Amino acid sequence: MKKILAPFKYFIDLLYPQVCDACGNPLVDGEQLVCSYCRYEIPLTNFWNSPDNPAAELFLGKVELEQVSSFFYFTKSSRYRQLMHKLKYKGRKDIGVFLGRLYGKYLSESSLYGSIDVIIPLPLHPKRQAKRGYNQSEEIAKGIGMSMEKPIITDVLQRNVYAETQTNKNRMERWKNVENVFSVINRERLSGRHVLLVDDILTTGATLETCANAILKEVSCKISIATLAFAVY
Ligand SMILES: [Zn+2]
Repeated sequence: MKKILAPFKYFIDLLYPQVCDACGNPLVDGEQLVCSYCRYEIPLTNFWNSPDNPAAELFLGKVELEQVSSFFYFTKSSRYRQLMHKLKYKGRKDIGVFLGRLYGKYLSESSLYGSIDVIIPLPLHPKRQAKRGYNQSEEIAKGIGMSMEKPIITDVLQRNVYAETQTNKNRMERWKNVENVFSVINRERLSGRHVLLVDDILTTGATLETCANAILKEVSCKISIATLAFAVY
């Protein structure tokens, strides 16, 4: 069967060559989504090995967190910008799982994240999720969960305000202290546990701060945060 299909695969590859989702160069056999060059060029933050880092600083004095980490630095000219754009707006859920898995390997090797019990993706408002068809943070969480071998929980948090943080930063800042942006349901599932809250990009941290505070107000648990990207502007 393989022998018969191989020429077809060759032909299809000629017509539609698989290219790197970050730089657009053709992928060679064995490479998946991102070429080896781009993979080795990921601007890793290494935040997961240090409790005091620029991501954690964003939350100091605002919410009590165990650890905060991002996988890579994200600049306007970054080739990883392409990946994040495809993940968020082009239906490429597979990119979230792929990067989440890579990130999860680093997190699982860090003693700072050794006590994580469950992983929770930052929820989207149901209307936005219906429009996009998926929650990109959930796809990232799935990848992290695979590498860390921890369960993902998606039925404990609910987002009640329909707004995009990126485009409504100021409004989100104002909502920080507003109650009910997030609701916690089935709170007993989080009680006494160490929760890893996952999101795609860390910019001001306002949304994650609101979310973590909403959980801590309702449940006695520990919270750490992991985002794929750390915005540097
Ligand atoms: Zn590449």
